[in-house]
Amino acid sequence: MEISDLIPTRCAICQTDGNAKELYPANFEISLITPQIFSARRLPDRFHYRLVKCNTCGLVRSDPIASQDTLTQLYNKSVFTYSDQVQSIKKTYGNYLKKLTGFGVKKNSLLEIGCGNGFFLEEAQSQGYQVTWGIEPSEDAILEARADLRANIVCDMMRPGVFESNKFDVICLFQVFDHISDPGGLLDECFNILKPSGLVLCLNHNIESWSANLFKESSPIIDIEHTFLYSPRTLSLLFQKHGFTTRRIAPVHNIYDLSYLAHLFPLPIPIKKSTINFLNNTSFGKIQISVPLGNLYIVAQKPDM
Ligand SMILES: [Zn+2]
Repeated sequence: MEISDLIPTRCAICQTDGNAKELYPANFEISLITPQIFSARRLPDRFHYRLVKCNTCGLVRSDPIASQDTLTQLYNKSVFTYSDQVQSIKKTYGNYLKKLTGFGVKKNSLLEIGCGNGFFLEEAQSQGYQVTWGIEPSEDAILEARADLRANIVCDMMRPGVFESNKFDVICLFQVFDHISDPGGLLDECFNILKPSGLVLCLNHNIESWSANLFKESSPIIDIEHTFLYSPRTLSLLFQKHGFTTRRIAPVHNIYDLSYLAHLFPLPIPIKKSTINFLNNTSFGKIQISVPLGNLYIVAQKPDM
């Protein structure tokens, strides 16, 4: 597969094109993009489009990017590669799902957008959610899902018409929202399929985190997969623009194995590989720590009408 067409993007908040200052120029040859690059959490992870920051609202975006059709094909063929970290990720996401209790959550029906192999849907069921649904573009990931969960996983990109209106109490997005090229359209559809007072739990990278500020262009979040990169302010602004009330926005404490933390760290590749090998071959790699590495989460609510 080759990509020759790059298309300009607009600010998802202001809807302006241009009107932005360049943060970093693109650092790759277009012909190098393959489905492997689009698979989650792979080495080496050093490709990114040109990054710009909106002059009006400060939202950071990739500009220009590959077309939506190309992205759909790439995500469809992407390979599920993060199964060894599933337990720590499940624990982290589960901790944030528990926080919804403080916002009067109802547990009849939950949807996860970008559910991978459905590991979080298992967690949601164990927390008492009656009916869980997932939507996931990667066929490979869905094949890994437990059979009973797979029955309620739709293989598709999220778009109008997949689910009926007023269906869900909760919609979750974990490390998905940064990848969406029309986040406003996605939020409109989330609003439509949520019941009144339904909640969105959305967790993704924070472009204003200490790690993003420290590592700058070397930060793992500066990545070809991310169309937009949000700060607490710009994420909240976008949700509010699409009818939601922000109930909470705060940094995330991720639980990581040390070996995975080494994978995320922007080290030269040979040093990174030998560090990861050392950690994997000793019990050190399995030590789990909780760190506010560079993610944020929002709990947003559809008003009761
Ligand atoms: Zn803007």
